[in-house]
Amino acid sequence: MALIVQKYGGSSVADAESIKRVARRIIETQKKGNDVVVVVSAMGDTTDELIDQALSIDSNPPAREMDMLMTAGERISMSLLAMAIHAQGEKAHSFTGSQAGFMTDTQYGAAHIRAVKPDRVKAAIGNGEIAIVAGFQGVNSRGDATTLGRGGSDTSAVALAVALGADVCEIYTDVDGVFTADPRIVPTAQRIESITYDAILEMAASGSKVLALRCVEYARRFQMPIHVRSSFSKRKGTIVLGTYADLDSIPNRD
Ligand code: ADP
Ligand code: ASP
Ligand code: MG
Repeated sequence: MALIVQKYGGSSVADAESIKRVARRIIETQKKGNDVVVVVSAMGDTTDELIDQALSIDSNPPAREMDMLMTAGERISMSLLAMAIHAQGEKAHSFTGSQAGFMTDTQYGAAHIRAVKPDRVKAAIGNGEIAIVAGFQGVNSRGDATTLGRGGSDTSAVALAVALGADVCEIYTDVDGVFTADPRIVPTAQRIESITYDAILEMAASGSKVLALRCVEYARRFQMPIHVRSSFSKRKGTIVLGTYADLDSIPNRD
């Protein structure tokens, strides 16, 4: 039995049908005998739409208010995903970043995680529930909502995996893993079976970005293995880790 943190990006939860599909996949992982904790991004282009809406009202909006607004996107997807799991007969409990114990500094828009104290998430696991956590957000020492920077749900997932002592952090997206180049731009790009944190950071520096930079740095610091894979297929993804010798210890690879 493994403890698996699964993160679903915006493209994986873009509409109601996608949310139901993701719920099925989460339940399948649990039925195989694993404990599952989920981190979810805002649906589709929600974050961009919220930013556009803000700018149509105030061309220079206060950073605090922007974070209050942007955290709403993940609140929608987390509750809808919990409902989809409930509708399929399983127990789920959603948590905002604050409720899940993500403490950050006060740098609105690009806050750094200072500590993760996921007591309520652990209690949910203990009750046999699937915990659904809003990505991209935390709370600062003033009690205000903060966001972690664009693409920050990847970082939320790895940080939560570390705090829970998970066996792997699975990042579900709309491509089959990490490729030698962006497969949407370079059709001949090849999927990479496994890659080290250092190598993926080098790729990101040259512009090829499938994971948020801070997420990979965080994973490297705590040696948390990441499995990047598609939520639209059952094909093998890419394992990101410190040394290739650890490959066999990664659960849920079929
Ligand atoms: P999500 O909504 O799941 O967070 P992102 O848009 O952040 O997804 O990241 C997935 C996208 O990253 C892919 O659709 C792909 O176009 C892009 N991408 C860029 N470079 C790479 C690469 N080297 N390998 C795979 N995907 C890449
Ligand atoms: N919803 C946020 C964004 O669009 C965070 C994320 O998707 O990782 O940047
Ligand atoms: Mg992303």
